[in-house]
Amino acid sequence: MSHQNMLIRGGYVLTMDAAGDIPGGDVHLRDGVIAAVGRNLDVPGADVVDAAGKIVAPGLVDTHWHLWNTLLRGMSDGRPTPAGPGRGGYFATCAELGGHFLPGDSYAATRLAAAEATDAGITTVHDWSHNIRGLDWAEASLRALRESGLRARFSFGYQAGHPNARLMALDDLARLAAAWPDYGADGRIRLGMAWRGTGGSNPAMRVAPALYREEIAAARSLGLPVSVHACGPAAAAGQVATYAD
Ligand SMILES: [Zn+2]
Repeated sequence: MSHQNMLIRGGYVLTMDAAGDIPGGDVHLRDGVIAAVGRNLDVPGADVVDAAGKIVAPGLVDTHWHLWNTLLRGMSDGRPTPAGPGRGGYFATCAELGGHFLPGDSYAATRLAAAEATDAGITTVHDWSHNIRGLDWAEASLRALRESGLRARFSFGYQAGHPNARLMALDDLARLAAAWPDYGADGRIRLGMAWRGTGGSNPAMRVAPALYREEIAAARSLGLPVSVHACGPAAAAGQVATYAD
């Protein structure tokens, strides 16, 4: 079926604007954009999708997702155990197996996650990418996002087990930002920073202020939005206030 000229016919249209919902409404798509919304649209030659009894709505927006670890979902079991060798659970699994990821793993995981997003009605994802082990890993994730057709924020992070005493790979982030027209799929994918915060990968320790301030400064100098896990001991210690000053 062609997306050049498509009519979604007779659905319960959630317009999400002041016009309100349209029961029994039509949506006309032409050349990938919405050309018209209303009742009984007359579109000669359009491919018709019968939406009777269905909801027609804009795509959902996911605001925080680590697409890279989708491959590990079936391996971590449901135990909420803390990180540590052999302890099981989500955090330990990601920390242990994340260190063995190759770029191809990041690519496959991101493609799978993107397919799951599409299946769930999500058309925009925020890929909080915190197992970037080198530029090749970031490029692999970005290639998967580009190929998926999703709209995305790609927040460039650190890597599983990143030492607290080492800066994030700010040079790689700057390289990506400088070459963003090659990655951004004509504006469909935007770049950001997934900041590790003041706590870093080991919450029992802290990142030195000189380091995390340099990370924030780098993101700001590139004009990139910054997001962070505002939870746990670091948040209790005033992480958000630190970030905001
Ligand atoms: Zn998270």
